[in-house]
Parts: sequence; structure tokens; C-alpha cells
Amino acid sequence: RNRQQRQWIGGMVASLLALLLFAVLAYRQSRLRQRLYRQLEQSHAELAEQRQSLADLNAEIIHQSEQDALTGLCNRRYGQTWLERKMLALANDFQQGTPSPPLLLMLLDIDHFKSINDQHGHQAGDRALTHFSAVLRQCSRPDDVLVRWGGEEFLWIFPQMNPLEVDAVFQRLRASLHSQPLQLSGEPQIIKVSAGYGLAPAWPTADTDWALWLNIADAALYRAKAGGRDRIMGLLPSGQVHMDAATLAQTSIAEMLHDGRLREQDMLRDSNDTAADRPVH
Ligand code: GH3
Ligand code: MG
Ligand code: MG
Repeated sequence: RNRQQRQWIGGMVASLLALLLFAVLAYRQSRLRQRLYRQLEQSHAELAEQRQSLADLNAEIIHQSEQDALTGLCNRRYGQTWLERKMLALANDFQQGTPSPPLLLMLLDIDHFKSINDQHGHQAGDRALTHFSAVLRQCSRPDDVLVRWGGEEFLWIFPQMNPLEVDAVFQRLRASLHSQPLQLSGEPQIIKVSAGYGLAPAWPTADTDWALWLNIADAALYRAKAGGRDRIMGLLPSGQVHMDAATLAQTSIAEMLHDGRLREQDMLRDSNDTAADRPVH
């Protein structure tokens, strides 16, 4: 009986030990699983974080590739791509029989900018460019596209602008530049600018070559400079003449002005005003 009892107790102890061992193993396994799960979660979070910072970096690179480093305005490459896309969309609207209004392209060139560099140094020139860009941005609307086109030349694209109102927009820019002079070597200096504008397209057409239309704004800018600077000049289509881009490419702007297909829009001359008399507020 004693032997039977010992065997029974031995069996019980062995079973208890086995149970204990099993419980310990199960516990360790669950701890291990929990730890692995936590590690997995952590590396998932790290991966998501890395993916997010890569996406942020990508967006930053794209943004920087579209931005002018000095002024923060759009750079020329962005402006060109924007114009290409927009002209395609306008040509498409025209072909569908639902033409959209043309863009208004205004080229601006700071007057006598070289003398700022010459008198106050290149850094002061850079400050003048940043200052001018900030004032330009203040005067623009959210839908406008502002591009630093070249050194001290800017392109202001108005997706919807009545040419009769563009003079007022320019006068607001003049007034802002006047009321916010730049401090150069301790002296206040008013930045002055000339502008020329035209429509893109000037005549309803399915042509997508924005450079042709920009040439018209450039010719207008040249006339604003020649007319005394610190002013705006437009070259707008006149009458009902239609011009396709192929003809336009072979016709000089001087010819078009001569035969009346283009006309100068010069608010200053039309109102018999002088630059010095013009109000700036
Ligand atoms: P105008 O009234 O006929 O436009 O005369 P301007 O002196 O403004 O024009 P010009 O073309 O003679 O000179 C432009 C100058 O702009 C020459 C160039 O060195 C300077 N420039 C171009 N880019 C930069 C720039 O990023 N920073 C600085 N500081 N100067 C620049
Ligand atoms: Mg220039
Ligand atoms: Mg200039």
C-alpha cells in the first residue's frame, strides 16, 4: 500500500511539475510573442515615419525645383510648364467650341536696376529683388502666377483679367513700391518698374505656342521703356482681324502695328498725363 501511495504521490508530483513546466513555458512564450509583437509594431511605426519623411522630402524637392531661390516666386521652368499646360487647355476649349478667355501676360522689368548694383553692391541688388518680389506678391491675387523670368525681369500671369483693368493693377503696384521704399546705404530708394502686356492668345486660335504671345508682351515692355520707363504699355488685338499662329510667326509686331492688327494700349498717353504728375496713392 505504501508503495502504491508513493507511486501515486510521485505521479501527482510529476504531473504538477509537468503542469508547472507547461505553465512556465506558456507564459514565456506569450511574453516572447508580446515582445515580438511590440518590436514589429515599433518597426512598422518607424517604417511609416521614414515613408512620411521621404514623401515630405520629395514634396520639398519638387517645391524647390519650381521656386526661384532668391525671391521665392515661381522659377522660369515652372512658368514655362504652366504656360504650356494652360495653352493646351485653352486650345482644347477652342476646338470644343467653348473658348475660354485668354490669359493676360505682363512682363515687368525693374528700371535702372544695374545702377543699384553699381552704386550699392550686388547684395543690395539682391535685396532690391527680394523686396520687389514681396511687394509684387502683396499686389497679386491668389489665382495669379508670379514668375521670376530672368535677372530683374518678372512675368505676371493673370488667368482672368479685363485689359481695361490692368492699368489700375499696375498703378496699385507703383503706389505700393512708392509707399515702401527700400533702405539702401541708409537712404530710402523707390524701386521703379516698367511693364508690357499682351493676351495669350491675342486672337482665338488652337495654337499652343505661348512664346509667340509672350513676344507681344515683350515688345510692349520695350515700348514702355522707350516711352520713359516707370509705366505700362499694352499691345492688344484690334478690330475683327483673325490671325493664325503660322501667319503671326512670319509677321513682325511692327508690321502688325502698322497695318492695325495690333494697337498700343497706353493709359498714360490716352489720359494725356505725365509720369511725374501721376498719382501714386
Ligand atoms: P533698364 O531700365 O533698361 O531695364 O536698365 P537696367 O539697368 O535695369 O537693365 P540692364 O539689363 O542694363 O541690367 C540688369 C542688371 O541686373 C544686370 C545684372 O548684373 C543684374 N542682375 C541680374 N540678375 C541679378 C541678381 O540675381 N542679383 C543682382 N544683384 N543683380 C542681378
Ligand atoms: Mg532687364
Ligand atoms: Mg531693368
